[in-house]
Amino acid sequence: MALSKIAQEFAAEIRNHDWSDAPWRLDRAGHSRASDSNSKLTERALTDDEARRVKTNAMWVTAQVLGYNDPNFDVYEFAEACGVNTRNSRGGKNGGIDAGLRKDAYGRFMRPGTWKFDDEFVTTATSDFYHAGTDCDWFRRGYRGGELLRFPTDGEVPTQWERCGHCLPSES
Ligand SMILES: [Zn+2]
Repeated sequence: MALSKIAQEFAAEIRNHDWSDAPWRLDRAGHSRASDSNSKLTERALTDDEARRVKTNAMWVTAQVLGYNDPNFDVYEFAEACGVNTRNSRGGKNGGIDAGLRKDAYGRFMRPGTWKFDDEFVTTATSDFYHAGTDCDWFRRGYRGGELLRFPTDGEVPTQWERCGHCLPSES
């Protein structure tokens, strides 16, 4: 799955920016110490490790918005495009990259700027019922894997799914 155009562009900017003097200068986008004149060059610079952390945080906050807006978003692909290493010391996938995002076990992202999931009905293709959210016990017990399907709470849910009697008491 290729990154969306907007994700590629965010990644290109994050990769391109020299984060090593970020605490001491208001740097224009695309700043690089390599092209600083001597008078502008700050005395202090972050270590490689410190600059890597700043860049990784920039990647995460951007990824939160991208993931919230795009169900196909892949944070590993995005992080690599930003120039963030996604491998652990044994060469495997570093789970910490994914853990930096605010989302639930079903891949649903919290709304940017909040610690809340949007109000929406959720289900999966193989379910018979739709639920008020992924924290419904009956949803959790019945979950068989697969992609979460989401519907606005002020709209119609297709008739192939019935309301869950546990989390969505009857409307009458
Ligand atoms: Zn339910």
